[in-house]
Amino acid sequence: MKKVFHFGISSEPYRCDAAIVWCFDSRFELGFRKFLKRIGVSFPDAIKIAGGAKCLAAPEPESECEFVLEQIRKSMRLHGTTRVILMLHSDCGAYGGLAGGFGGDARAEAAHHEQDLRRAAATVAACFPGVEVQSYFVDFEGIWKVEPIAQQKPRPSGTSGVPRS
Ligand SMILES: [Zn+2]
Repeated sequence: MKKVFHFGISSEPYRCDAAIVWCFDSRFELGFRKFLKRIGVSFPDAIKIAGGAKCLAAPEPESECEFVLEQIRKSMRLHGTTRVILMLHSDCGAYGGLAGGFGGDARAEAAHHEQDLRRAAATVAACFPGVEVQSYFVDFEGIWKVEPIAQQKPRPSGTSGVPRS
């Protein structure tokens, strides 16, 4: 081999701030990376795939969902990841685009993607209990946080009503 480029990178053990499941559409890369830094994610394990979190919401080929869950699992095991960030964006080719998939209706698209992000977050939360999951929709003007549906408070132990054997 012949060295063709030089740089210096820390060789300390690597610990990731969050695993990011996002689409490989580069238009949203710069803005989303800036946002990630703002929320404390300087070292992301980037899982970049067509459609981003789509496969976790509606696993058309279920193998894609399994693959992505396995990537998250590896990020947790290898890099100590405790936070997963899910991303969908406007005009995504995996959804047929804004025009083709939603007739150019940006509000319908946003509403649809909000639901898909909730489904995807539920998939991740069910697979990895205790992991922090955050979901974002990115359009041409900014980034929108999808608030998780309020979870039911766990009942105090011993009052579950389930008979114990
Ligand atoms: Zn996309």
